[in-house]
Amino acid sequence: MSYTFDDGTQAPYYQQLHATGVRVTFFVNLNASPVSTWTQAARDGNELANHTAHHCFANGKSCVGTYAGSLEAEYDLCTAYIKTAFGVSDVWTTASPYGDTGWDNLAKTRFFLNRGVWPGRIAPNDNADPYNLPIYGVPDGASAGMIDAQIDAARAAGTWQIFLMHLLDDRGVKASEVVASIHHAKSLGDVWIDSMVNIGAYWAGQKALANATSTQSGTDTIVKWTLPAHFPTGKYVRVTVTGGTLKQGGRVLSWNGGGYYEVALDPGSLTISPNAMQR
Ligand SMILES: [Zn+2]
Repeated sequence: MSYTFDDGTQAPYYQQLHATGVRVTFFVNLNASPVSTWTQAARDGNELANHTAHHCFANGKSCVGTYAGSLEAEYDLCTAYIKTAFGVSDVWTTASPYGDTGWDNLAKTRFFLNRGVWPGRIAPNDNADPYNLPIYGVPDGASAGMIDAQIDAARAAGTWQIFLMHLLDDRGVKASEVVASIHHAKSLGDVWIDSMVNIGAYWAGQKALANATSTQSGTDTIVKWTLPAHFPTGKYVRVTVTGGTLKQGGRVLSWNGGGYYEVALDPGSLTISPNAMQR
Protein backbone atom coordinates (compact mmCIF):
# COMPACT_ATOMS: atom_id res chain seq x y z
CA MET A 1 0.00 0.00 0.00
CA SER A 2 1.23 3.47 -0.82
CA TYR A 3 -0.39 6.42 0.89
CA THR A 4 0.02 9.52 -1.28
CA PHE A 5 -0.99 13.02 -0.26
CA ASP A 6 -1.22 15.90 -2.70
CA ASP A 7 -0.75 19.66 -2.61
CA GLY A 8 1.42 20.00 0.51
CA THR A 9 -1.46 20.78 2.87
CA GLN A 10 -0.87 17.97 5.39
CA ALA A 11 1.83 19.54 7.57
CA PRO A 12 -0.50 20.03 10.60
CA TYR A 13 -1.10 16.26 10.59
CA TYR A 14 2.43 15.16 9.87
CA GLN A 15 3.21 14.01 13.40
CA GLN A 16 0.10 11.82 13.46
CA LEU A 17 1.12 10.15 10.22
CA HIS A 18 4.73 9.83 11.36
CA ALA A 19 3.67 8.16 14.61
CA THR A 20 2.37 5.19 12.61
CA GLY A 21 5.95 4.37 11.64
CA VAL A 22 5.23 4.03 7.92
CA ARG A 23 6.75 5.98 5.04
CA VAL A 24 4.37 7.84 2.74
CA THR A 25 4.57 10.06 -0.33
CA PHE A 26 3.78 13.77 -0.41
CA PHE A 27 3.32 15.38 -3.82
CA VAL A 28 4.09 19.04 -3.24
CA ASN A 29 4.15 22.36 -5.07
CA LEU A 30 6.14 25.52 -4.35
CA ASN A 31 3.67 26.60 -1.68
CA ALA A 32 4.29 23.62 0.63
CA SER A 33 4.90 24.99 4.11
CA PRO A 34 6.22 25.15 6.70
CA VAL A 35 9.64 24.20 5.41
CA SER A 36 10.63 22.76 8.80
CA THR A 37 7.87 20.11 8.72
CA TRP A 38 8.61 19.00 5.17
CA THR A 39 12.34 18.91 5.86
CA GLN A 40 11.63 16.65 8.82
CA ALA A 41 9.30 14.49 6.73
CA ALA A 42 12.06 13.94 4.18
CA ARG A 43 14.60 13.22 6.91
CA ASP A 44 12.19 10.63 8.36
CA GLY A 45 12.32 8.69 5.08
CA ASN A 46 9.10 9.88 3.51
CA GLU A 47 9.07 10.65 -0.19
CA LEU A 48 8.72 14.29 -1.20
CA ALA A 49 7.74 14.19 -4.83
CA ASN A 50 6.93 16.48 -7.73
CA HIS A 51 3.44 17.90 -8.17
CA THR A 52 4.80 20.73 -10.41
CA ALA A 53 5.62 24.26 -9.32
CA HIS A 54 2.21 25.89 -9.73
CA HIS A 55 -0.31 23.08 -10.19
CA CYS A 56 -1.48 23.96 -13.70
CA PHE A 57 -3.29 21.94 -16.31
CA ALA A 58 -1.00 20.78 -19.12
CA ASN A 59 -2.23 23.75 -21.18
CA GLY A 60 -0.73 26.10 -18.61
CA LYS A 61 -4.13 27.20 -17.26
CA SER A 62 -5.73 27.17 -13.78
CA CYS A 63 -2.39 27.57 -12.02
CA VAL A 64 -1.93 28.31 -8.34
CA GLY A 65 0.22 31.39 -8.83
CA THR A 66 1.84 32.32 -12.12
CA TYR A 67 2.60 29.75 -14.81
CA ALA A 68 6.35 29.24 -15.16
CA GLY A 69 6.06 29.53 -18.93
CA SER A 70 6.56 25.90 -19.90
CA LEU A 71 5.71 22.48 -18.54
CA GLU A 72 9.44 21.71 -18.38
CA ALA A 73 9.97 24.72 -16.14
CA GLU A 74 6.99 23.70 -13.99
CA TYR A 75 8.60 20.31 -13.34
CA ASP A 76 12.12 21.58 -12.88
CA LEU A 77 11.27 24.45 -10.55
CA CYS A 78 9.38 22.04 -8.32
CA THR A 79 12.21 19.51 -8.24
CA ALA A 80 14.74 22.24 -7.51
CA TYR A 81 12.54 23.55 -4.71
CA ILE A 82 12.17 20.12 -3.10
CA LYS A 83 15.93 19.62 -3.19
CA THR A 84 16.99 23.04 -1.94
CA ALA A 85 14.20 23.78 0.55
CA PHE A 86 13.80 20.32 2.08
CA GLY A 87 17.29 18.85 1.66
CA VAL A 88 16.17 16.02 -0.60
CA SER A 89 18.90 14.47 -2.77
CA ASP A 90 16.67 13.32 -5.62
CA VAL A 91 13.09 13.45 -6.81
CA TRP A 92 12.00 10.24 -8.50
CA THR A 93 8.26 10.42 -9.02
CA THR A 94 5.55 12.87 -10.00
CA ALA A 95 1.77 13.19 -9.94
CA SER A 96 0.06 15.25 -12.61
CA PRO A 97 -1.95 18.22 -11.32
CA TYR A 98 -5.69 17.56 -11.73
CA GLY A 99 -4.66 14.13 -13.04
CA ASP A 100 -4.21 15.79 -16.44
CA THR A 101 -2.70 13.11 -18.72
CA GLY A 102 -1.26 15.89 -20.89
CA TRP A 103 1.75 15.80 -18.55
CA ASP A 104 2.47 12.10 -19.06
CA ASN A 105 4.86 12.25 -22.02
CA LEU A 106 7.01 14.95 -20.49
CA ALA A 107 7.10 13.03 -17.22
CA LYS A 108 9.03 10.28 -19.04
CA THR A 109 11.94 12.66 -19.61
CA ARG A 110 12.44 13.34 -15.90
CA PHE A 111 10.80 10.77 -13.67
CA PHE A 112 10.61 7.08 -13.02
CA LEU A 113 6.88 7.01 -12.26
CA ASN A 114 3.89 9.28 -12.72
CA ARG A 115 0.77 8.71 -10.67
CA GLY A 116 -2.52 9.06 -12.48
CA VAL A 117 -6.02 9.36 -11.02
CA TRP A 118 -7.92 6.46 -12.58
CA PRO A 119 -9.19 3.74 -10.23
CA GLY A 120 -7.26 0.50 -10.15
CA ARG A 121 -4.47 -1.58 -8.66
CA ILE A 122 -1.10 -2.77 -9.88
CA ALA A 123 -0.08 -6.43 -9.96
CA PRO A 124 3.36 -8.01 -10.08
CA ASN A 125 4.65 -8.15 -13.67
CA ASP A 126 1.53 -6.52 -15.07
CA ASN A 127 1.50 -3.97 -17.86
CA ALA A 128 0.35 -0.95 -15.89
CA ASP A 129 1.57 2.28 -17.49
CA PRO A 130 4.32 3.60 -15.19
CA TYR A 131 3.43 7.12 -16.33
CA ASN A 132 -0.24 6.84 -15.48
CA LEU A 133 -0.44 4.58 -12.43
CA PRO A 134 -3.91 3.91 -11.03
CA ILE A 135 -5.16 4.82 -7.57
CA TYR A 136 -7.98 4.55 -5.11
CA GLY A 137 -9.12 8.11 -4.55
CA VAL A 138 -10.27 8.14 -0.94
CA PRO A 139 -13.49 10.18 -0.95
CA ASP A 140 -13.84 13.17 1.33
CA GLY A 141 -15.52 12.17 4.57
CA ALA A 142 -14.38 8.55 4.20
CA SER A 143 -14.16 6.37 7.29
CA ALA A 144 -11.21 4.15 8.09
CA GLY A 145 -13.47 1.21 7.26
CA MET A 146 -13.78 2.35 3.66
CA ILE A 147 -10.00 2.43 3.31
CA ASP A 148 -9.67 -0.88 5.17
CA ALA A 149 -11.95 -2.55 2.62
CA GLN A 150 -9.62 -1.43 -0.17
CA ILE A 151 -6.60 -2.67 1.77
CA ASP A 152 -8.25 -6.06 2.29
CA ALA A 153 -9.18 -6.37 -1.38
CA ALA A 154 -5.72 -5.38 -2.60
CA ARG A 155 -4.13 -7.80 -0.14
CA ALA A 156 -6.40 -10.65 -1.23
CA ALA A 157 -5.44 -10.01 -4.84
CA GLY A 158 -1.73 -9.65 -4.08
CA THR A 159 -1.66 -6.20 -5.63
CA TRP A 160 -0.26 -2.73 -5.00
CA GLN A 161 -2.85 -0.12 -4.07
CA ILE A 162 -1.93 3.54 -4.24
CA PHE A 163 -4.20 5.76 -2.14
CA LEU A 164 -4.74 9.40 -3.09
CA MET A 165 -5.81 11.99 -0.54
CA HIS A 166 -5.73 15.76 -0.23
CA LEU A 167 -6.91 17.64 2.87
CA LEU A 168 -6.78 15.74 6.15
CA ASP A 169 -9.19 17.97 8.04
CA ASP A 170 -12.99 17.99 8.21
CA ARG A 171 -13.22 19.02 4.55
CA GLY A 172 -11.26 15.98 3.37
CA VAL A 173 -10.37 12.62 4.87
CA LYS A 174 -9.80 13.06 8.58
CA ALA A 175 -6.24 12.27 9.61
CA SER A 176 -7.55 10.03 12.40
CA GLU A 177 -9.30 7.83 9.81
CA VAL A 178 -6.17 7.61 7.69
CA VAL A 179 -4.12 6.68 10.74
CA ALA A 180 -6.67 4.03 11.75
CA SER A 181 -6.47 2.47 8.29
CA ILE A 182 -2.67 2.34 8.53
CA HIS A 183 -2.99 0.54 11.85
CA HIS A 184 -5.39 -1.90 10.17
CA ALA A 185 -2.90 -2.60 7.37
CA LYS A 186 -0.09 -3.06 9.87
CA SER A 187 -2.21 -5.42 11.98
CA LEU A 188 -2.52 -7.83 9.05
CA GLY A 189 1.16 -8.58 9.47
CA ASP A 190 2.03 -9.20 5.82
CA VAL A 191 1.19 -5.91 4.13
CA TRP A 192 4.02 -3.74 2.81
CA ILE A 193 3.21 -0.07 3.34
CA ASP A 194 5.75 2.28 1.81
CA SER A 195 6.29 5.30 -0.41
CA MET A 196 5.46 5.21 -4.12
CA VAL A 197 9.13 5.27 -5.11
CA ASN A 198 10.01 2.34 -2.86
CA ILE A 199 7.19 0.00 -3.87
CA GLY A 200 7.36 1.21 -7.46
CA ALA A 201 11.06 0.35 -7.57
CA TYR A 202 10.25 -3.17 -6.41
CA TRP A 203 7.49 -3.53 -8.99
CA ALA A 204 9.67 -2.27 -11.84
CA GLY A 205 12.76 -4.09 -10.58
CA GLN A 206 10.86 -7.35 -10.44
CA LYS A 207 9.72 -6.79 -14.01
CA ALA A 208 13.29 -6.07 -15.08
CA LEU A 209 14.43 -9.41 -13.63
CA ALA A 210 11.46 -11.22 -15.14
CA ASN A 211 12.59 -9.90 -18.53
CA ALA A 212 16.28 -10.54 -17.89
CA THR A 213 18.45 -12.42 -20.37
CA SER A 214 20.49 -15.42 -19.30
CA THR A 215 23.74 -16.52 -20.91
CA GLN A 216 26.12 -19.35 -20.06
CA SER A 217 29.75 -18.78 -19.20
CA GLY A 218 31.28 -22.14 -18.46
CA THR A 219 29.16 -23.56 -15.67
CA ASP A 220 27.94 -20.11 -14.62
CA THR A 221 24.71 -18.50 -15.70
CA ILE A 222 24.98 -14.74 -16.17
CA VAL A 223 21.66 -12.95 -15.78
CA LYS A 224 21.45 -9.38 -17.09
CA TRP A 225 18.68 -6.83 -16.87
CA THR A 226 18.02 -3.24 -17.79
CA LEU A 227 16.37 -0.81 -15.41
CA PRO A 228 13.95 1.85 -16.62
CA ALA A 229 15.14 5.42 -17.13
CA HIS A 230 15.35 7.62 -14.02
CA PHE A 231 15.27 4.55 -11.78
CA PRO A 232 16.29 5.19 -8.15
CA THR A 233 19.61 3.84 -6.93
CA GLY A 234 20.16 1.44 -4.07
CA LYS A 235 17.09 -0.74 -4.59
CA TYR A 236 16.74 -4.51 -4.18
CA VAL A 237 14.43 -7.36 -5.07
CA ARG A 238 14.06 -10.76 -3.44
CA VAL A 239 14.88 -13.79 -5.52
CA THR A 240 14.52 -17.50 -4.89
CA VAL A 241 16.60 -20.17 -6.60
CA THR A 242 16.43 -23.94 -6.83
CA GLY A 243 20.09 -24.25 -5.92
CA GLY A 244 23.56 -22.95 -6.56
CA THR A 245 25.44 -19.87 -5.45
CA LEU A 246 24.50 -16.29 -6.32
CA LYS A 247 27.14 -13.63 -6.86
CA GLN A 248 27.10 -9.95 -7.71
CA GLY A 249 30.33 -8.14 -8.50
CA GLY A 250 32.28 -11.21 -7.41
CA ARG A 251 30.65 -11.19 -3.99
CA VAL A 252 28.67 -14.23 -2.87
CA LEU A 253 25.17 -13.30 -1.71
CA SER A 254 23.98 -14.78 1.56
CA TRP A 255 20.73 -16.64 1.74
CA ASN A 256 18.08 -14.98 3.87
CA GLY A 257 16.32 -17.12 6.46
CA GLY A 258 13.04 -16.14 4.83
CA GLY A 259 14.03 -18.27 1.85
CA TYR A 260 15.33 -15.66 -0.58
CA TYR A 261 18.33 -13.71 -1.73
CA GLU A 262 18.31 -9.93 -1.77
CA VAL A 263 19.59 -8.93 -5.18
CA ALA A 264 20.86 -5.38 -5.78
CA LEU A 265 19.29 -3.87 -8.88
CA ASP A 266 22.01 -1.30 -9.63
CA PRO A 267 24.64 -3.74 -11.00
CA GLY A 268 22.20 -4.98 -13.68
CA SER A 269 23.60 -8.48 -13.45
CA LEU A 270 23.82 -11.58 -11.34
CA THR A 271 25.88 -14.75 -11.60
CA ILE A 272 24.47 -18.13 -10.65
CA SER A 273 26.78 -21.08 -10.11
CA PRO A 274 26.16 -23.78 -11.09
CA ASN A 275 22.48 -24.07 -12.07
CA ALA A 276 19.47 -22.12 -13.22
CA MET A 277 17.38 -19.80 -11.13
CA GLN A 278 13.70 -19.63 -10.62
CA ARG A 279 12.14 -16.22 -10.67
ZN1 LIG B 1 -3.08 18.53 -6.68
